[in-house]
Amino acid sequence: MCGIVGAVAARPVAGILLEGLRRLEYRGYDSAGMALWSETEGQGALSRLRRIGKVQALADALEQQPLPGNLGIAHTRWATHGRPAEHNAHPHMSGDRVAVVHNGIIENFERLRDELMAAGYKFSSETDTEVVAHLVDQQVQAGATLLEALRSAMQRLEGAFALGVIHRDYPGLLLAARKGSPLVIGVGIGEHFIASDQLALLPVTDRFMFLEDGDIAALGVDQVQIWDRAGNRVERAVSRFEHGAGSAEKGEFKHFMLKEIYEQPSVMKSVLEGRVSGDHLLEQAFGSEAAALFDATRQVQIVACGTSFHAGMVAKYWIESLVGIPCMVEVASEFRYRTVVLPKGTLLVTLSQSGETADTLAALREVKDRVLGTLAICNVPGSSLVRESDLALMTNAGPEIGVASTKAFTSQLVALMLTTLALGRRHGVLPGTEAQIINALKGLPELLQQLLALDPQIEQMAAAFAEKHNALFLGRGALYPIAQEGALKLKEISYIHAEAYPAGELKHGPLALVDKEMPVITVAPNNEMLDKLKANMQEVRARGGELFVFAGNVRRGCT
Ligand code: GLU
Repeated sequence: MCGIVGAVAARPVAGILLEGLRRLEYRGYDSAGMALWSETEGQGALSRLRRIGKVQALADALEQQPLPGNLGIAHTRWATHGRPAEHNAHPHMSGDRVAVVHNGIIENFERLRDELMAAGYKFSSETDTEVVAHLVDQQVQAGATLLEALRSAMQRLEGAFALGVIHRDYPGLLLAARKGSPLVIGVGIGEHFIASDQLALLPVTDRFMFLEDGDIAALGVDQVQIWDRAGNRVERAVSRFEHGAGSAEKGEFKHFMLKEIYEQPSVMKSVLEGRVSGDHLLEQAFGSEAAALFDATRQVQIVACGTSFHAGMVAKYWIESLVGIPCMVEVASEFRYRTVVLPKGTLLVTLSQSGETADTLAALREVKDRVLGTLAICNVPGSSLVRESDLALMTNAGPEIGVASTKAFTSQLVALMLTTLALGRRHGVLPGTEAQIINALKGLPELLQQLLALDPQIEQMAAAFAEKHNALFLGRGALYPIAQEGALKLKEISYIHAEAYPAGELKHGPLALVDKEMPVITVAPNNEMLDKLKANMQEVRARGGELFVFAGNVRRGCT
């Protein structure tokens, strides 16, 4: 899922669109394009330019062939359907009448394409997007207004999408719609804009309206009208862009780590955006080769370092229990230097916030030719890891400045759960389970808010650690790697020595170290392992250790 920019103004907009695309470049993309409306000999006309590769290639083409016009849409594409190629780049058009830019995935595009082909439409791309242009055109040809046409097209589209639409016969009208993918409206004076990310529009405005799921908007130079999914006219509040929010400035927070901890609820939303539709996963979000690779996967090898390694360890529990195929996890600095045996059908999953972690990248390069395929789970789209992998899933966490990985870790976990579900489809995970998990993931922002509200209690607990020199973290099952991550965080941030153990290992040695000077942090599961863990906690108590238990139900708080 990549970038959309659109503008309707009283001045030429090609430069605004181009600058918008440049500002979206950080999201990674494979091609770029724009379409503008202009008048020639008293008639409206759409002109389009598309280029594979960098936005600069589009800028160079625009130098040669400037596009006039006060109304236009532009796009950077991250291919999900059809390889990166100029004919697959957006905007997509129906004849010379309709131009459409789209972020996301239209799940039922094959059915719609067959139907439109039977009605005489010729397709010039392999994308899912092109059906939208023809659907809108079909309705307009049948007598609908452009707005009605988009509304009825939208009712037929399944999946996740953000759309920008213009029409040859509708001067001064920019339509926008969203369902499951982000889209904002930029409010100017005598001009209006759309973008998939407000950062794209900061040179022209700092006032934004956020469209809600199912909204359609009609933008003219002087007004914006919005309808909700039920077709009712609605108002969406205008808010000012806050410098520092979601960007590389710490704003009201004392330090970046705190800011990034507090960003987690919104990051949980963006990691799901464009990846789920209703209660199911859109696996094309992993890339156009995803279905074939996941079909052939017989085992998973995860390779990562540090925090990412711990996220990978959690995924091992998920993949083996939910999918039922083997999953190995190894730190990259070991994996890359030893002789590894990779069974046939191995999917290599690399995890890295930056996508430039040297050991992880080297591990990928080392075994790339010996595995079935490679998937990078990463926060930086243009990074080496992403470029050199067959599939990629972005964690959409935004820049992480703090030393300790916080939002990057939680967003990796969500991405890994989506990977688990994608693999699970092939190996008998029931649709009911998938729906249950997707709904639970959607509930994460709310749960995280509740957790963040425990800040005062957590601060009190922190005081109990301040003078300590050692700490022990315990967990069982998928919470064991969470305990490991906790220990890593404490070490890294406070310079207090901390170790993590699977709780069952306590009696095999580490218990000897427990006394009243040793805080013991336990991450307690709310499942069949709880009783076992309680027994381990008794062992700690018996030796006078100070216990801190993080339990599943946040309402009960931390004891
Ligand atoms: N699914 C569309 C395509 O493959 C849009 C991809 C995007 O969001 O950039 O062209």
